[in-house]
Amino acid sequence: MTQTPQRTVAVIGSGVAGLTAAWIASRTAQVTLYEADARLGGHADTHRVDTPDGELAIDTGFIVHNRRTYPTLLRLFAELGVATQPSEMSLSVSDAGTGVEYAGALGPRGLFAQRSSLTSRGHWRMLLEIPRFHRRARALLAGGDDQTVEQPTAQADDQTLRDFLRDGGFTPGFVRHFMEPLVAAVWSCDPATSLDYPARYLFTFLEHHGMLGVFGSPQWRTVTGGSGTYVAKVAAGLQDLRLDTKVTSVRELADRVEVTDGSGATSAYDSVVVATHPAQALAMLEQPSDLQREVLSALPYSSNPALLHTDASLLPTAVDARASWNFHRPAEDNGAVTVTYDLTRLQRLPTDTHYLVTLGGDDLVDPATVIDRMEYEHPLYTPGSVAASRRLPEINTARIAFAGAYHGWGFHEDGARSGLAAATHLGLPWTRTTRELPRPGRFETRIRHTRRSPFSRTFEHASTLWLVDVDDLPDHGRLARFESRDHLGSPGLSLRENVEDFLAQHDVHLGAGGGTILMAAQPRSLGYAFNPISVFWCFDDDARHAGVVVEVHNTYGDRHAYLVHPDAQGRARTDKAMYVSPFHGVDGTYDIAVPIPTDRLHVAVTLRGHEDGAAAPFSASLTGVRSDVPLRRTLGAALRGSALIRAHGTWLWARRLPVRPRPTHSQEGVQ
Ligand SMILES: Cc1cc2nc3c(=O)[nH]c(=O)nc-3n(C[C@H](O)[C@H](O)[C@H](O)COP(=O)(O)OP(=O)(O)OC[C@H]3O[C@@H](n4cnc5c(N)ncnc54)[C@H](O)[C@@H]3O)c2cc1C
Repeated sequence: MTQTPQRTVAVIGSGVAGLTAAWIASRTAQVTLYEADARLGGHADTHRVDTPDGELAIDTGFIVHNRRTYPTLLRLFAELGVATQPSEMSLSVSDAGTGVEYAGALGPRGLFAQRSSLTSRGHWRMLLEIPRFHRRARALLAGGDDQTVEQPTAQADDQTLRDFLRDGGFTPGFVRHFMEPLVAAVWSCDPATSLDYPARYLFTFLEHHGMLGVFGSPQWRTVTGGSGTYVAKVAAGLQDLRLDTKVTSVRELADRVEVTDGSGATSAYDSVVVATHPAQALAMLEQPSDLQREVLSALPYSSNPALLHTDASLLPTAVDARASWNFHRPAEDNGAVTVTYDLTRLQRLPTDTHYLVTLGGDDLVDPATVIDRMEYEHPLYTPGSVAASRRLPEINTARIAFAGAYHGWGFHEDGARSGLAAATHLGLPWTRTTRELPRPGRFETRIRHTRRSPFSRTFEHASTLWLVDVDDLPDHGRLARFESRDHLGSPGLSLRENVEDFLAQHDVHLGAGGGTILMAAQPRSLGYAFNPISVFWCFDDDARHAGVVVEVHNTYGDRHAYLVHPDAQGRARTDKAMYVSPFHGVDGTYDIAVPIPTDRLHVAVTLRGHEDGAAAPFSASLTGVRSDVPLRRTLGAALRGSALIRAHGTWLWARRLPVRPRPTHSQEGVQ
């Protein structure tokens, strides 16, 4: 019997786009990865630096991602078993020309890091303009068309950020001290370029990343041990790695693609993924089509020389203004600015020294502090390039597909997603080896309490419930926020740490990557929190169900957490351990139903074996349907639910339902 030979695929470029494509292709094909550089990873660039505090793995290119807007990268990380950790994202502005220094996302101390700004009209005006900017930017998006994140429409190109700010009457102080630093820091570009960005395109990105509001940013994370960790794991799964091998020519024939490298060696492949920057891609095509030439040459990149150093003079002078990202405009305003990332802060490096990466600060950084010098390039977004990028899907051929972060917003997820799209275009499947996890969201719910003994009584009401990822908790300030003090464990620790500690006490571990914990609960809203029941579905790194923590709260302020391991239908049984209702003791067992949420949510608890002898004297259930229920409709839900429960209890008491004594509850959590 003859065997069909395996397909051969060349991937050119080992940035995240090439690595993702190579990882997917390697499932079903023989992959050769070409990389011009002496190391793999492209912008995923981890430096191993010997320091007095030991060797540190410092990321100088790709640093942060989040669990909300990086699904492709996270899927790759999950398959590779890559551990990640929370990071701190804050942005400072220090303008030597005007003397202004402040930081966002560090609270009032950061906003008023210079005490003089408390009495500065200009500073207050800028702060007041920020919510107005958010509102107008959201209105621009809402008043628009069917634009999606991946494919902005022609209308997206019409208005530049400069036009938008002028039309909105934003002050020069706002533009200089807020807008330009934000765009320049996020996209590593100079202020003049930032104002040429297409407004709608920019706002779609900012909205998508929770940056068009004072609250709502995702929890940013770094790769534990540096991004090189995931690069090494992909590389370990590939057989033919060709480092220091620059591809000089790609020639497509009817039955193959010939790839020639700098040494003149030519190899033939069934398919090729070109995962370099657009100009490099165009240069290597032997016979580019008119469209390939037109599109690839219309996608400019800017050069970003970067220095890894320890010169803290690049940070704001006001200590409270020092942030993880630091924008600095020098006194002589020649258009050049610097952005300095504080990796010690971002990666939580175990050292007191600030390890910094500065873009564009060659003449400002003390040479004695420089550890390394890198050359990066970043896509530039202009109305012309955004228009050209819409035609990118058309330039793939039957055997060649293009990938790179320039297919999207220029970030790591865009690179990973483009690698997946290139593999898909070439018919290389990415079969899911990890299970899909439920999506966080809000649910419209109905809550039902049924009492069957000593008399029948049903009490039902409508409410709302949130399903949240404990690593990416929504934060709407006093309106809606999830806090550790409202759940099991210590209020000084994070929700994740408390759930992990509780699981560890029961010998349940989610893996090196920390797995995923999804919680169904009401947020603390307008200063009040009450969750009769909060449910934590816990999944390990391979998205396998590791257990469910069902946390019950009573109206006396007690709480108890039960760990259950439900069957395939989501059913489990556990002994009752806490006094919940004044009409029941702590005896009996609970039948619990907590199936993994989908677009429906179901949680039910039935009390059995209770001393009054009835088979199931009491049950409570919550059924929900995923919905875009607006935030304002969720406000006060906890207060309403608590009031209704108390009113119902009073009704039962008035009907002379016997009240049971309340034993002291030993709490595994704190009040
Ligand atoms: C300083 C900096 C910080 C950043 N921080 C973040 C961040 O925190 N979060 C985030 O999401 N994004 C961040 N980004 C953006 C993001 O990391 C990059 O846009 C993304 O990693 C680019 O991936 P890529 O695969 O498209 O290209 P690259 O990573 O640039 O990879 C292209 C590869 O192709 C190789 N190559 C080129 N020509 C040839 C050839 N002829 N033959 C063989 N190989 C070739 C190159 O050597 C390179 O390795 C940052 C970017 C920079 C510059």
